[in-house]
Amino acid sequence: MIHFSPNIAKLQPSATISLSSRVKELISAGHDIINLTAGEPDFPTPSFIADAGVRAIREGRTRYTPSAGVPELRAAIATDLSRLSPHQPAFDPASIVVSAGAKEALFNACFSLFGPGDRVLIPVPYWTTYPEQIALARAEPVFVNPGGENGKVTPEDLDRAAASGGVKGIILNSPGNPTGAVYSLEELEAIVRWANARNAWVISDEIYRRIYHGDRLAPGLLDLDPALLERSVVIDGASKSFAMTGWRIGFSYSPLELATKISALQSQTTSHPSAPSQYAALAAYCAGEEQMREYRTMSSAFERRRAHVVRLFRELLPGVRFLEPEGAFYLWIAVDGMARNGENDIALCERLIETVGVALVPGSAFGDERFVRLSYACSEDTLERAVERLPEAVA
Ligand code: PLP
Repeated sequence: MIHFSPNIAKLQPSATISLSSRVKELISAGHDIINLTAGEPDFPTPSFIADAGVRAIREGRTRYTPSAGVPELRAAIATDLSRLSPHQPAFDPASIVVSAGAKEALFNACFSLFGPGDRVLIPVPYWTTYPEQIALARAEPVFVNPGGENGKVTPEDLDRAAASGGVKGIILNSPGNPTGAVYSLEELEAIVRWANARNAWVISDEIYRRIYHGDRLAPGLLDLDPALLERSVVIDGASKSFAMTGWRIGFSYSPLELATKISALQSQTTSHPSAPSQYAALAAYCAGEEQMREYRTMSSAFERRRAHVVRLFRELLPGVRFLEPEGAFYLWIAVDGMARNGENDIALCERLIETVGVALVPGSAFGDERFVRLSYACSEDTLERAVERLPEAVA
């Protein structure tokens, strides 16, 4: 038996990635299963972005880049952030570090800020990776249970969770995976002020910010007064916004001193994300009006799918409670209206796969076993076929 280092002694593989892989295996073995576990857009990467990646390879832009990313990409992200948050003073590209996905950007931020003895607040339900990354930094994840079911916490919830002290940070995620809930700007501001008053960092994972069913863009930390953001890190990236999950491009935007340290950390671990992927992302962040048409097709598809899945559930499963999503592409469904004979979330998901061939993710993967997650990153037709299978299987 190998005696692993305490660094990874308690590390668990990503529950959502494991489940999704198992479902894909069953499907390729010939089982009739509709897979609603996916955490990624089902669209191909827009062709102008893919072409830019291919061009970079053909033109030999395949060597090492600076560890924080190529300067053109960091500048393009800074310009894009200015476009999204026009009232902010100019964004300094030096505060942006491009990483291999938002996941690496989050890891770098957690590893740079937190360590032994630090406690980091995570609202429940949470994206599965947060507690693991905090534990990898040997800090302690502290789960915050909000009053409601949508995962949004208030300063009062945080007060309760922080009562025993030692809080060094909080991780926010809006629009949220798995709930699709979105914090208003006022709610974000109250949390940032709460953290500032305690010298705690706010890491705001805004990877779904552009997949928002409201106006244009979900409220984000960069909509707040910059004076409030001295201890804040914004995480975002190209994966969900531009259907680029496999290219692995994410970034952090943080105070310069932290960005410099994150860049040093990255220079000693992965060096930098793949060079051709960075040039593909450059095309995405520089896209003109015409090219953005392809991108807008995706956002309107998510909007239609959300409306469709909500309508189908109301019509076909009137006894099943769910949260109406405001962003991202997930439906957070209560187990109690679907379970039989006291089944828990895991048993329910297994039975749905076995009896009606519909794969959902158990909520316990996100810290809340009262729910299961359905991803509507699939065609309306697929959604319809899946939801039509459910009534015969639910309580
Ligand atoms: N943050 C959240 C909330 C996510 O759901 C995901 C992916 O599922 C990520 C971050 C990771 O994004 P990336 O693929 O860019 O690493």
